[in-house]
Amino acid sequence: MKKALTLFVLTALIMVLAACGGNNAGNAGNAGNTESGTGTEESAAKNSEKGSVGISMPTKSSERWVGDGANMKKEFEALGYGVDLQYAEDVIENQVSQIENMITKGVKVLVVAAIDGESLTDVLQKAADENIKVIAYDRLIKNTEHVSYYATFDNFKVGVLQASYLEEKLGLKDGKGPFNIELFAGSPDDNNAYFFFDGAMSVLQPYIDNGKLVVKSGQTSMEQVATLRWDGATAQSRMDNLLSANYASDTVHAVLSPYDGISIGIISSLKGVGYGSADKPMPVISGQDAELASVKSIIAGEQTSTVFKDTRELAKVAVSMAEAVIQGKEAEVNDTKTYDNGVKVVPSFLLEPVSVDKENYKQVLVDSGYYTEDELK
Ligand code: BGC
Repeated sequence: MKKALTLFVLTALIMVLAACGGNNAGNAGNAGNTESGTGTEESAAKNSEKGSVGISMPTKSSERWVGDGANMKKEFEALGYGVDLQYAEDVIENQVSQIENMITKGVKVLVVAAIDGESLTDVLQKAADENIKVIAYDRLIKNTEHVSYYATFDNFKVGVLQASYLEEKLGLKDGKGPFNIELFAGSPDDNNAYFFFDGAMSVLQPYIDNGKLVVKSGQTSMEQVATLRWDGATAQSRMDNLLSANYASDTVHAVLSPYDGISIGIISSLKGVGYGSADKPMPVISGQDAELASVKSIIAGEQTSTVFKDTRELAKVAVSMAEAVIQGKEAEVNDTKTYDNGVKVVPSFLLEPVSVDKENYKQVLVDSGYYTEDELK
């Protein structure tokens, strides 16, 4: 009897230990312990049950998209999805074929930041044929009904912030002027570029009309001021031309720049003809994205301001939209009237952009953990 009891207790103890061992093995498996197997298989099974998502980004040449991709990948993986993240290096055909591959692989959803908002109609038809839903990321995808949601920032406001900064720095509201200004816009195949430019011109146009701002080149239309693919070198050579044709004996006081990479090109052109010295100060120059090099440039007193768009927040919004469509649920939106893509008004979630300069960069960028003090040195 005593023996039987001991045997029973022993067996029970072994069972308990085995169960604990299983759990531990599970955790260790996730941490990469190959012995257990259990955990790894479980999470792989979970992953393949949940399937994978396709993220198609435009280019690695601008930091922001690198951050966007990495943030989304992390978020999706934390939810148990596999992630196929591709960058197309600003070549439209690359982007189309990368998306085609994702469709062939059977991703559950596509999150796409388009290079050219108008060139994805056919490939998104293929996605729809396979019942794969699409989230437009940051940039609107046009001419297709096959885009479920749009995650972005208030793009008109980005332009308003850029121009309001110039307005404030120049003292235009106080009646100062006239000042010479030159205008730059983003890529004409990116819907955002029009929103940024329109937002900026909503502030600047009245001053151009009353003569307090003078565009000596006369180039004020989107066609004249656009910068294909947001390319800094293209902007630099346009600025070279503007300076030599219009400013041989005149000074440019302000430049509307839509994006940090473009501002860098403009600044090097200006430096090339002597701006940035005591007797020839840099004009007031805007930007966008708070890219590291440009925040450093702001701290150094070259670029004047940028617009910060927290890509960590955008990634969260896009991932939750993607989860919703995968689960057949409705995603949260806060704008249902602004973004008409030519076929439908795409339900959108707009985040708030923030103006950043030398005065507030620590508070906005460092305190929020976007950059460390060290990175900005
Ligand atoms: C984005 C901007 C970015 C620009 C160039 C736009 O679509 O909204 O944040 O500066 O593309 O990459």
